[in-house]
Amino acid sequence: MVKRGSGGRIRNASVPPAGRIAVVTGANRGIGWAIARGLAERGLTVYATARDAAAAAAVIAKARSPALRLIPHQLDVTDEHSVEALRNEIETKHGRLDVLVNNAGAYYDARQRASSADIATVRAALEVNLLGPWRMCVAAVPLMRRGRGGRIVNVSSGAGSFADPESGAPAYSVSKAALNMLTVKLAADLAGTGILVNAACPGWVRTRMGGPRAPRTPEQGADTPIWLAMLPPGGPTGGFFRNRRSIAW
Ligand code: NAP
Repeated sequence: MVKRGSGGRIRNASVPPAGRIAVVTGANRGIGWAIARGLAERGLTVYATARDAAAAAAVIAKARSPALRLIPHQLDVTDEHSVEALRNEIETKHGRLDVLVNNAGAYYDARQRASSADIATVRAALEVNLLGPWRMCVAAVPLMRRGRGGRIVNVSSGAGSFADPESGAPAYSVSKAALNMLTVKLAADLAGTGILVNAACPGWVRTRMGGPRAPRTPEQGADTPIWLAMLPPGGPTGGFFRNRRSIAW
């Protein structure tokens, strides 16, 4: 059930977007890039991260707008030292974090079957799609607790829904189902703090993962994650959304 978040101990609930600091993982391409650019266009300062430092740096050229506050930074969500380095930089430079979008995802194992899955692939999918976001949340929450009410958006998938048992990609689907449960647990844990935690399915999107036949653009896929990242105080928490509407777990 989707709950409403309380205002928590928010000292200034109307912090303008220009004052907010955001991190987007896997921001060098696909939906992550559309989310990072979309948040920057709304005035946020966005750490556009990528596991390859050169790919992160290239986002500035990709933006083609020096006015956007995009800060490239290396980040591999499976590497705790990499996560720690980003956390330290944000703490030193800003003292807090307002938005975390756990977008990075991998291992869409469409050719596997659950009954014959390669367990090493399952483990790798869990590393990127579950433990990576979890590690990011553990690093981010202390910075979010510093007064303004944070927003955590976990980019999940309908493939991780128990309402969709037919879809293949078993390692990917199980990892996204676990990410959904993490969303519920975090939202309950952080109830009353002003930090809102939600999961989003972007739909089927034309990216390297989604392939060329997908009907949606990355910008369309980014819409619901951006909406969740910009929720006002008292917005929903512990929910799963597509097209800005609650969907079945
Ligand atoms: P994509 O184009 O394949 O992009 C995936 C991004 O994740 C890339 O930036 C990739 O970086 C990054 N990444 C992978 N492993 C990482 C790691 N260990 N640390 C940091 N970054 C890592 O896929 P997409 O379609 O944009 O997917 C974005 C999110 O949407 C994913 O969570 C995906 O599961 C979800 N989703 C997508 C669809 C769809 O139809 N496309 C549908 C439902 C859900 P590199 O460039 O270094 O590989």
